[in-house]
Amino acid sequence: MMTIRRFAAFLALSLSVATGPTLAQDKGTLEPKPLPPLSNSDDPRMPAKELFGRKTSPAALQPRSIGGYAKGCVAGAEGLPIDGETWQVMRLSRNRNWGHPRLVDFLERLSRRVPGINGWPGLLVGDMSQPRGGPMITGHASHQIGLDADVWLTPMPDRRLSRAEREEMSATNLVRADWLDVDAAAWTPAHVSLIRAVAKESEVARLFVNPAIKKALCREAGNDRSWLAKVRPTWGHNYHFHIRLACPNGDGACADQDPPPSGDGCGDELAKWFTPEMLHPKPGKPRPPTVLAQLPSECRRVLTAP
Ligand SMILES: [Zn+2]
Repeated sequence: MMTIRRFAAFLALSLSVATGPTLAQDKGTLEPKPLPPLSNSDDPRMPAKELFGRKTSPAALQPRSIGGYAKGCVAGAEGLPIDGETWQVMRLSRNRNWGHPRLVDFLERLSRRVPGINGWPGLLVGDMSQPRGGPMITGHASHQIGLDADVWLTPMPDRRLSRAEREEMSATNLVRADWLDVDAAAWTPAHVSLIRAVAKESEVARLFVNPAIKKALCREAGNDRSWLAKVRPTWGHNYHFHIRLACPNGDGACADQDPPPSGDGCGDELAKWFTPEMLHPKPGKPRPPTVLAQLPSECRRVLTAP
């Protein structure tokens, strides 16, 4: 059972990702404009997202995930190549195909197994982290330490997508307009097989999906239900699901989350997501942006490293 306090904290985190369930999929552009330089980057009040958002290459340091998923950075990140036999990276203009080498390796290995898991030719990969991780100017509250990746709930097509298609192509929305269940015309057994296979991987700490998708998984899982504990409901995640790896062994600066509550999470905990208050939340107070001094002190070195 999740305590009320933990549930409230989790809810606050979810709401800072997407206020309410009405989230459309962002498109990219073929001509991304570089951010203007900062004249006052040393100002202690400068939001850390402005600093990390301007780094276009990884820090040349030993690979390390530093801090927590929603408050940290990554040293020595590696880029997922934009094309593999069994994967393609989407929205290249965002430059978010970076992660701890363990994440890159995981995604490559996973994607090679996908044709055998559910018959898809491969995976379309969305946001991972920025080159040095850290907070982002748009989008996610997490994805900060190079261990999170969004994977589209749309099969990779049997051909190379063009640059324009990678920016503009829409993923499939799997959730009904009333947010109460999946869209039966879009939801397939292949989605269940893929999410189940990822959740069973020991390196995976959590997966995030829309509550309507969790509802469908609960209904369709059958008797083998242990993997459902890792599949956590959260807003958005109706076009993609989110894979979160556990901290790499021996990475002392990386802060794991508590393990998810035991049990399949299909009962009361899931039902809460479908109450009127949750489906139509009142807008909360915007939180002040994180500044560099609030991140682990090593993130300053990650930011300034060559
Ligand atoms: Zn995500």
